[in-house]
Amino acid sequence: MWKARVFTLYPEIFPGPLSKGLYGKALQKKIWDLEVVDIRDSAEDKHKTVDDTPFGGGSGMLLKPNVLGKSLDSRLKKDERVFYLSPKGKKFDQKFAKDLTKEKTINLICGHFEGIDARILSTRNIEEISIGDYILSGGESASFVVLDSVLRLLPGVLGNEKSKDDESFENGLLEYPQYTKPQIWEKKSVPEVLLSGDHAKIKDWRLSQSKDITRRQRPDLWEKYLNNKKNEKY
Ligand code: SAH
Repeated sequence: MWKARVFTLYPEIFPGPLSKGLYGKALQKKIWDLEVVDIRDSAEDKHKTVDDTPFGGGSGMLLKPNVLGKSLDSRLKKDERVFYLSPKGKKFDQKFAKDLTKEKTINLICGHFEGIDARILSTRNIEEISIGDYILSGGESASFVVLDSVLRLLPGVLGNEKSKDDESFENGLLEYPQYTKPQIWEKKSVPEVLLSGDHAKIKDWRLSQSKDITRRQRPDLWEKYLNNKKNEKY
């Protein structure tokens, strides 16, 4: 069973969206498991203080290292990877999500306020993950992003395993456009080729659409794709 352990100041918002639909069913079927740890339970004073002002001045508050450290130490098992959701981290992407499916248990720390005391990162061997170049108010929504993208890759979670292979990013390209019934809607018909029943032709059309869309919408991905293709030849 694949397991996520989430350290948060807002345990009540989990599993939230992950309790619905296929993920909820997979949770019941024990394909994956979620352990939610309330960081505040490790506060050491009677006011349950978890944060304090930064040394050197500056705005905002930081999560205290002794509180977070105690919380981590109460749950972490040997050799588990620990991630802090952070705008300074390695950029999360599909490949990263796939890598995480190979772990038995991952730990996700959701920060708040201005972030966390930096000493905790090295003392607990924590890796930082960013979900993008913008600032959120807390790591919870980022942890939902990470978990959502990993869970759908676990065997047995999605009904149709094959649908994952055609997805955007799988072959370095974005997905081709898709259409469903009605065939004519607001005077627009779906592309003729999709009605042809000619599977080779449909495959070609989809690949050329994927290339077109990637070139137009994501020049950065397109360049990477071309470079990979070039290298494949040698
Ligand atoms: N002062 C920090 C930002 C703190 S934002 C800085 O400038 O680097 C508050 C919390 O939200 C962080 O502790 C982190 O857990 C979460 N967070 C914010 N942006 C994020 C992002 N892009 N990816 C992942 N987590 C993020």
